[in-house]
Amino acid sequence: MEKLQKQGYSAFLNQYFKENAELFSDLSKRQKPHTMMITCSDSRINPALLLNAKPGELFITRNIGNVVPPYLPAKGSTQAAIEYAVNVLNIPKIVILGHSNCGACAHMYHQPKNNELSLPHVENWLQYIVPAKSAAMLEVHANHNKNIFELTEKHNVISSLQRLMEYPYIQNRLVDNKISLEGWWYDIGSGKVEIYNFDKRDFESVI
Ligand SMILES: [Zn+2]
Repeated sequence: MEKLQKQGYSAFLNQYFKENAELFSDLSKRQKPHTMMITCSDSRINPALLLNAKPGELFITRNIGNVVPPYLPAKGSTQAAIEYAVNVLNIPKIVILGHSNCGACAHMYHQPKNNELSLPHVENWLQYIVPAKSAAMLEVHANHNKNIFELTEKHNVISSLQRLMEYPYIQNRLVDNKISLEGWWYDIGSGKVEIYNFDKRDFESVI
């Protein structure tokens, strides 16, 4: 283990773990997270830090671009994580957490140069962001003052919410009011979070 990692682990064990020993003892027997977060792999996003949440509170799945793929074909870990969270853990809330300066969304506008390193898996995965790009381009066409990247990030959150609502077991729980879905956009530079308002079809500041 490198020196930095050793120091970090040592600090965790001697401070955080000791201070929360009772919590960890309880968590060693079960988990009952109150929220599932689907967010980007980006190193600048830390859902637990953002919500001041302790271990056991958040069930988190991450991928490039915080994407929820369509229900079918089922061939990814994100679908498996959602299925487990909803059907086994009975999670009452799912949050799609998008963010500013998202490399996945920006890549949709990238013009490849000759001899550029090919990224076949990334390119294949980013197909899920194409509808968000189309929606963002339409919106920018109508209002040139809007930022195409931010719009793509926000439409990407909306696309993921829409796909989530098409998962049959989530549809059933929505009808029975057993689950709620939220779309968030987090601005890295300011710490600001905006939440999607389904009625107004727009994002609003939380505080
Ligand atoms: Zn991202």
